[in-house]
Amino acid sequence: MHRPGEMRERTLDVIVPESFGNAMIGVKQGSELRIDLRMESLHDGILVSADIEGTAAGECGRCLIDIEQPVQVEIQELFAYSSDEAFEYEVHEDTIDLEPVVRDAVVLSLPFQPVCQEDCLGLCPQCGVRLLDNPGHEHEAPIDPRWAALGDLADTTTPDVTDAASGVE
Ligand SMILES: [Zn+2]
Ligand SMILES: [Zn+2]
Repeated sequence: MHRPGEMRERTLDVIVPESFGNAMIGVKQGSELRIDLRMESLHDGILVSADIEGTAAGECGRCLIDIEQPVQVEIQELFAYSSDEAFEYEVHEDTIDLEPVVRDAVVLSLPFQPVCQEDCLGLCPQCGVRLLDNPGHEHEAPIDPRWAALGDLADTTTPDVTDAASGVE
């Protein structure tokens, strides 16, 4: 604090106290985030840079199987000494609260349409089986009406393929 030019580095292994993420994927309660932290004292505050690593868990947006993806995010934020400054974050009682910064950065890095693999074929619109597990899958006979309801379900829950592709980019 108030010693421009000084710098500290820390590695924090954080057990996530509460799950966070989007509707499809997130960092789960109890999982570990490693935060490699660098704090530099400037004239008007503490500049915090960090590399954040962890694992996100969720569902494939096309075939709905459980998936895990690595989380890797870099952040850099100034925590200002004075609340008069036009900075979003402040040093409070000699303390900086990293949690909102880390959460926001991780959530922003998560895909809205995560996929188990880029070429996931989703579910059969007629019977709902996962097409990657059933190569050559096709329906020869008219579908049993008892399965039709499942087909409707797959239609409404399987996102459009072009949407999914643009979400990944
Ligand atoms: Zn999938
Ligand atoms: Zn089918």
